[in-house]
Amino acid sequence: MTTSADSKEVRVRIAPSPTGFLHLGTARTALYNYLYAKRHKGKFILRLEDTDDERSEENYVDDILAGMKWLGINWDEGPDIGGPHPPYRQTQKVDHYSHLANQLVSKGAAYLAYETPEELAALKEEQKAKGQPPRYDNRGRNLTQSQIERYLKDGRVPSIRFKVEEPRVVTWDDHIRGPMAIETIDLGGDVVIVKSNGIATYNFAVVVDDLDMKISLVIRGEDHIHNTAKQILLYEALGERLPDFAHVALIFDHEHHKLSKRVHGEKVHIDYYRRQGYMPEAIVNYLAQMSFTPTDGREIFTLAEAGEIFDLERVSKSPAVFDLERLNWFNKHYIKSLPLELITERALPYLTSVDKSGYTEKQLQDIVGSVREGLTTLADVLPATKFYFEKAPTIAEDLKQSVLSGQHARAILERALQELSKFPFGDARGCKQVVDNIGKELGAKGKELYWPLRLAISGAVSGPDLGIMISTLGTASRLQTRLEAALSR
Ligand code: GLU
Repeated sequence: MTTSADSKEVRVRIAPSPTGFLHLGTARTALYNYLYAKRHKGKFILRLEDTDDERSEENYVDDILAGMKWLGINWDEGPDIGGPHPPYRQTQKVDHYSHLANQLVSKGAAYLAYETPEELAALKEEQKAKGQPPRYDNRGRNLTQSQIERYLKDGRVPSIRFKVEEPRVVTWDDHIRGPMAIETIDLGGDVVIVKSNGIATYNFAVVVDDLDMKISLVIRGEDHIHNTAKQILLYEALGERLPDFAHVALIFDHEHHKLSKRVHGEKVHIDYYRRQGYMPEAIVNYLAQMSFTPTDGREIFTLAEAGEIFDLERVSKSPAVFDLERLNWFNKHYIKSLPLELITERALPYLTSVDKSGYTEKQLQDIVGSVREGLTTLADVLPATKFYFEKAPTIAEDLKQSVLSGQHARAILERALQELSKFPFGDARGCKQVVDNIGKELGAKGKELYWPLRLAISGAVSGPDLGIMISTLGTASRLQTRLEAALSR
């Protein structure tokens, strides 16, 4: 069979339904389409499947667009920027779908069906009682004129159903899963293409849009495999060339639940991770390598690099598992390795609750720089740096007992206070040297020497290097207040 993929231009798309916030799975599918377009110098299109007027909401549209932009998955054509095949929102194409559906009716490939929702529900119940899978029994195919007249007199409004040829096997060569074969008997009977309210269903509108927008390859989730079979029949009925198809395995949690809002709540939303302090670079890298392995096996790559190496043949058929630990690993990597100015800029929104007024922009960078090795998310910057902004840290009772009552603890703090003017703030090594000299003099080293000072300065015995910490405080008075506070305890 000829497919539109035979023509030159690569055109792929993401077609989210704005019935919820941007989902991790949708972001991954969007990303794979985007990467495919980059790799093949094609176009990546965004369109909104917003025909479900009860569940579609404008704030979901905003969230989806903002989330994709935040991740850097930019589109070449879309509802906000237009393109050569508008409109990019299904609600603006209602008449167009109806027109094409009516053409199918005139050709005899579709028909008007008059069942009420109650009748369809009763049919389902009957089938359930007999232990049969639910399916439409195609009863509307052969209505007599008098039946139709009676239905119309009763005020029934018909839907349009497309005739699914049975038995038959629909086949295609999937770019990820290889040869596919679906029995039409498993498709649930004739498919509604326009609902009685006049709105096209997903399966019809998607085919019309993919044709209108000259999509060459449809990359989407495996949950659409049966829809693909229905859609192939629709392409044939419309007398049009097919796009190619690639179905990506779905994402599950460690307990084999599909990632869903119902089971996982907001933890399936991209914006949740943004708010938690995840970096877009980390999410993109994590999602890219979730089901795709580059030939050289590398794990760390940027969006641009992925666009050069992405290959559907190296996308796994096996279900993906969402692993927060692994996402954390990527996030740590990017927090550690991207430019400090960028990390500081992104970290500052998490520091609104502290008084930063005494610190210059450069010092704030030093503060973030002093802790960034230990951060998993940007939000961790608040607990990690809080001590810099407080007059003196609160010290937990047990630490006070175990550390500050040590043999040399008081003497170390007192000596540091006396040597205050010797600390070269801004020079971490120099600051450390002053401490080490005190240690030599008192015969203390290691924990015994450092912990009382760490505790006095930050309220904890772990954290950034002591020299860096003292140096980053920036002024003698900040060190002084902390040492005095610890000594007074
Ligand atoms: N609106 C559909 C979804 O969000 C799009 C499926 C497709 O790509 O055809 O699942």
